[in-house]
Amino acid sequence: MRFHVLTLFPGVFAGPFDEGVIKRGIDAGLVEVRLHNIRDYTHDRHRTVDDYPFGGGPGMLMKPEPLFDGVEAIRASAELADSDPVILLSPQGRPLDQPIVERLARLPSIVLICGRYEGVDERVRTHLATEELSVGDYVLSGGELAALVVIEAVSRLVPGVLGSAESTSGDTFAGGLLQYPQYTRPAEFRGLEAPDMLLSGNHAEIARWRRRESLRRTFQSRPDLLESADLSPEDLEFLEFLRRRV
Ligand code: SAM
Repeated sequence: MRFHVLTLFPGVFAGPFDEGVIKRGIDAGLVEVRLHNIRDYTHDRHRTVDDYPFGGGPGMLMKPEPLFDGVEAIRASAELADSDPVILLSPQGRPLDQPIVERLARLPSIVLICGRYEGVDERVRTHLATEELSVGDYVLSGGELAALVVIEAVSRLVPGVLGSAESTSGDTFAGGLLQYPQYTRPAEFRGLEAPDMLLSGNHAEIARWRRRESLRRTFQSRPDLLESADLSPEDLEFLEFLRRRV
């Protein structure tokens, strides 16, 4: 999986790629991150990447030329197929969620465009980006942290990146629900006990308990997820039981 990142601040990415899951994926050759400094695609002496917005208004906008040239240079290097997405990070984009992350993890390459200042010239959105993603309903100063969120979430789904002891199958959102509560040793900590069920060794009962706790947690914290979750008749019965208790 190859990520091409167009950014004005490549230094932001130094730390996160030197740690944890992303580093492991990179070291194993399963994940590749190419950082492209947008200034390298300017053609003037001052390496200008921004300009005043037409019509006035506060701040500066990122000019279209370096971004178009940058994406075209990546395409010309044959490291990007025509069908690979060019993603503009933007608070106005579609909110990133696990189904989007799963779709991206199946692709060979993606381009991530990090905006700065007041954002990018509209023609980048309409004629260069193939999609626009947001990491939440708040405004960051730049797209770099948002790009890191995308890279981290997608990389951990690339086959082989997570170790055999780790798995994404029980993760929150993987089955459309929040994950069940988890405990480790000690079984009793400051008077707080792990549920007996988890220590019982009865795997069928443990699986049933976990499913119910997943449903309970989702019902309490993210009931919106239940509308699209894949639910069995037993799940629906348990949810009805929870609803009656409210
Ligand atoms: N003026 C823009 C607006 O109101 O939509 C916000 C510009 S923001 C200060 C600068 C850049 O940060 C954006 O171009 C985008 O790349 C990035 N950014 C900010 N918030 C984001 C979010 N929630 N998700 C993804 N990218 C974000």
